[in-house]
Amino acid sequence: MKKRTIILFVTDKCNRRCSYCRVHKGTNVMTFGSAKKALDDYFAGGKTKDEISVKFFGGEPLLALPLIKKIVAYIGAVHPKQKVSYLLTTNGDLLTPAVAIFLAQNNVAVTLSVDLEKKHYSGGRVDFDRRMLSALKMIPPRNITATIVVLPRKAGFVDSAFVQLFAMGFRSFHILPVYYTMMWDEKQLVALRNGIFRVIALAHMFSLEGQKVLLRGFQNKDRSDSPLFNKDHFVDVKGVVNQGDDWAMMPAGAETKALLLSGKYSDNYLKVQRVMDEGTAFKNQLEGK
Ligand code: SF4
Repeated sequence: MKKRTIILFVTDKCNRRCSYCRVHKGTNVMTFGSAKKALDDYFAGGKTKDEISVKFFGGEPLLALPLIKKIVAYIGAVHPKQKVSYLLTTNGDLLTPAVAIFLAQNNVAVTLSVDLEKKHYSGGRVDFDRRMLSALKMIPPRNITATIVVLPRKAGFVDSAFVQLFAMGFRSFHILPVYYTMMWDEKQLVALRNGIFRVIALAHMFSLEGQKVLLRGFQNKDRSDSPLFNKDHFVDVKGVVNQGDDWAMMPAGAETKALLLSGKYSDNYLKVQRVMDEGTAFKNQLEGK
């Protein structure tokens, strides 16, 4: 059995304008025809016993919810024997109880991007609106990962955000420092290192106390969860398939491509990644690996 991943960039629309965004936003939604063709080709290229992960990415994928519903229904009808899992990355603004019920019923795992800017974090507090909180309660905790998007100037808040999210019931986390559109200075790198070491130590302590915490972002070389590092299949909003391309996000924006390929950002990336690698080593040490 092989595990395979296909990422569908279902829309380049987004209701937000985050300062660190790497997506070239537009008004496009993938057509069902493009999605169907990409999926048909992808399923045909493997075996029925393969485990396939279908990931919905954007922009804000919930702006393409009718398409996502159609895709999930189509796969269920046409490939009933295939083991398929779904994952959707969202900023959470459009999560309502009705959307959450659809996601829970269809076993769509959710990666919720929690940024430390004012939309999700104000006055040192993680701040979700009431509607989103009620929606989150309808999704099984095992199906939600909180991605803490760490901006350089907010690096010192990563552990406090982690503790608050833990208290809200989150048990799966992904720490994502923004290295692709923002530069980090030495002071910020030290704050990031201190913050993630505290997160790792706390997560370990909670796990020892029987509250198992899953920390992602520290999996050594396996970064395939990110569209940036997905080496499998990435289908852009126009239905163009990119395969085996480390910089698979490129079709989303020429300026992002230029930034990522510039020496400036690759050096920045290496510095941040070094800190994350130190975190990985610390985590492995605590876990006796
Ligand atoms: S929510 Fe995501 S896609 Fe939308 S602006 Fe922010 S980073 Fe970009």
